[in-house]
Amino acid sequence: MKADTIFVNGHIMTMDMDLLDASAVVVREGVIQYVGDTEPALNWKGKNTEVVDLEGKTLMPGFIESHVHPVDYAIKLLEIDCRATSAPSIEDVLKKIKEQTQSTPENEWIRGWGWDDSKLKEKRKITRWDLDKVSPNHPVILKRTCGHVAVANSKAFEMSGITKDTSQPKGGNIEYDQSGEMTGILEELAQDLLSLPEYDYNDLKKGFELAQKDFAKWGITTVHDMSAVQENMQLYQDLLSDDNLTVRVRPWIWALNQNGWKGHLNQTLSLGIKSGFGNDMIRIQGMKYMLDGSVGGRTAAVDQPYEDDNHKGILYFSTDEIAPYMKQAILGDLRVAIHAIGERAIEVSIQAFEEAHKEANISNMRNRIEHCALPTEDHLKRMKELGLIAASSIGFIYHIGDSYIKNLGTERMKRVYPHRTFIDYGIVAPGNSDLPVTGGNPWTGIYGAVNRKTISGQVSDSVQNISAYEAVKAYTVDAAYSSCEENIIGVIKASAKADLIIVSENPLEVDTEKLKDLEVEETFMNGKSIYKK
Ligand SMILES: [Zn+2]
Repeated sequence: MKADTIFVNGHIMTMDMDLLDASAVVVREGVIQYVGDTEPALNWKGKNTEVVDLEGKTLMPGFIESHVHPVDYAIKLLEIDCRATSAPSIEDVLKKIKEQTQSTPENEWIRGWGWDDSKLKEKRKITRWDLDKVSPNHPVILKRTCGHVAVANSKAFEMSGITKDTSQPKGGNIEYDQSGEMTGILEELAQDLLSLPEYDYNDLKKGFELAQKDFAKWGITTVHDMSAVQENMQLYQDLLSDDNLTVRVRPWIWALNQNGWKGHLNQTLSLGIKSGFGNDMIRIQGMKYMLDGSVGGRTAAVDQPYEDDNHKGILYFSTDEIAPYMKQAILGDLRVAIHAIGERAIEVSIQAFEEAHKEANISNMRNRIEHCALPTEDHLKRMKELGLIAASSIGFIYHIGDSYIKNLGTERMKRVYPHRTFIDYGIVAPGNSDLPVTGGNPWTGIYGAVNRKTISGQVSDSVQNISAYEAVKAYTVDAAYSSCEENIIGVIKASAKADLIIVSENPLEVDTEKLKDLEVEETFMNGKSIYKK
């Protein structure tokens, strides 16, 4: 049997404890056949074999993102990115809009998101007059980074029938300047006055194709969709049947009506679908539940009040309320993933798992606590006993760690996303970004896990640092464990899938400060190149 592809002369970062060192990998029909030295690997060479000379570069397993919202991200990609990282001044924002007008038919909406007056060079809000200058004939809406404020242009107001005579809506505000003119700023529910068309299925598809390109560029070959509902499942299956799905999807089906999504617990149970249903590309994981908010919004259910505040966040359910729904899923052989960030939410989630454990041994089921930001020592012990996985949003340390430090204080940061402690307790903790909540590039998550440093350079703590190897493991081996596929993905060994990435530098040898800047040079899915720098 001859190979389709042979990678030679590389540093193979196998992530396989049985064979740490190798220089070559042989691939046939999308599956790894051999891992070892270059010379024996070349015995697999036939006349149609492609030999890839790695020239000393690192070849490693494709990343597995354990918690993202791919369809939400897909929608964002259809809109103009106005974050300061991509448009530092109002002038830059306007340039992007002008460009968009050139490829958009007149009267069709142009949408953007992510601007922040405190970060824009001009240090002021964008106005409708700014937008009118570059887009007189297209309605424009740009959402501020918080989502609570938006700016629209005159065309958008005209098409939505918003005039000076429009009365202020309940729960919202149309902003006026001192001379009594509308500035274009719409606050809170005033944004609903705009007659924006809803996105349709084709938009979703278009956005997801763009999202897939980003995943491939970041070296991500598998994603866990943490809010899978009907349209997500439909989309993945359509892309697969069109031979157009380039990322493995691991859907966690949204369980209960919450957060604007329709819950599917009853339908899933009544169809008899169990965890593991599907194929190599799309494999159902289980049911997703939700218990509290976020640290950034000060809504995560913490034990002690937020800094300079007397609030302790919001807990959506008590144990008595949530446990029966979780038990239903578990008894139906559906694994459970539950969002719990603060100590009070983690406590409820563990209690609910303990309730289920009384009726069915769940210690080998690999149920997950999502984010799991602030577990206590007692929580960690009980999590270990129940075999629970901490699907840790370690990516937050780099991207939004500054807001964590501000809201939680430095002392608590020593316990936030505690990867060193997870390892000490033997708790498997795959990493994630919660994309689009934070940036999806796994190297930034790995950087944060190793250096415990934020985007502004603040150190969050110096007790939870892990090694680069351990951090890469969180995005490969540990994430594969969380979908019960540790022999199939996230590892380079014979009979695993050939989901591989080539990295220019060895992540175990570069200065740890450079980890966030590492780039993926090429990504392979099932042995086929899907991205090349
Ligand atoms: Zn999420």
